[in-house]
Amino acid sequence: MSADQFEQNPDNTVNPDDADGAQRESTANSTWSRLLAGNRRFAEGKPEHPWQDTTTRESLIDRQNPDAAVLSCSDSRVPPEIIFDAGLGDLFTVRTAGQVLDDAVIASLEYAVSKLHVSLLVILGHEGCGAIDMAARELDEMIEATTHDPASSLEAAEAIDDLDERIAEAESIMLRTVGMSVWQARQAELDAHEDFERVHVAHTIEELVTRSEVIQDALAHDKLMIVGARYQLTTGKVEVLSF
Ligand SMILES: [Zn+2]
Repeated sequence: MSADQFEQNPDNTVNPDDADGAQRESTANSTWSRLLAGNRRFAEGKPEHPWQDTTTRESLIDRQNPDAAVLSCSDSRVPPEIIFDAGLGDLFTVRTAGQVLDDAVIASLEYAVSKLHVSLLVILGHEGCGAIDMAARELDEMIEATTHDPASSLEAAEAIDDLDERIAEAESIMLRTVGMSVWQARQAELDAHEDFERVHVAHTIEELVTRSEVIQDALAHDKLMIVGARYQLTTGKVEVLSF
C-alpha cells in the first residue's frame, strides 16, 4: 500500500467498472514492482517493516484496501508479508500446504478480486516444499504399485492408461493436487524438485482460472493480473516465473 493510494482511495470505493483496463494493468505492474522491491530489501537484510505502526493499524479499523492477493504455501519459512517486506493492509493472503486449491481457497481469492478489487494475484511456490516432496513420493508409490516395478521408468508409467484418473481420484489430497503437477513435469522430462515446484505454480494458475468464473471474468476485463513466482530459501529472493 503506497501513501498515494492510501490518500486517494481512503474508503475502498473503487468501482472496477470505472477503471479502464490499461490503468488496472499499470496498477498491477506497479504493485508487483513494489512487492519485488520489498523482497529485494528483505533478501539483502535491509527490511523497512513498513506499515506496521499504530497509526496504520488504527487507520485500517473500518476498512481494508489491499493491493494484492497472495496464495502461498503454509510453510513457516515463507510468510508473504515478511518476504515481501509488506505491512498491515498490504496483502490478502491465503495459505495452504503446497498452495493447493479447494473450494474455500478459491472463494477466498474470489472475495479478494470481486470485493476488495485487488489488481494482482500472486501464486507463490517455494524451494524445498515438503508438500511437493510428499506428492512426488506418493506418485512414485502409485506407479510402483501399478507396474509392480520398483524402478519404474517414464515409459512404464506412461503405459498406465488411466494414470491421470488414478491421480485425480486418489485418496490423498496432496497426490490429487500436487501429484498431477509432478506428473506433468515428469512427462515433460523435468525431474528436479525445483522443476516440480515451478510446474506446480503453473498448474495451480491454470486450475484456478479453469475453476473460477469470477477470476476468468476479471482477467477478461483486464481487472486482474496473475503472476507465478517461487521463493528461494537459500537466497531469500523471489524468482519470477514465466510460462
Ligand atoms: Zn511448501
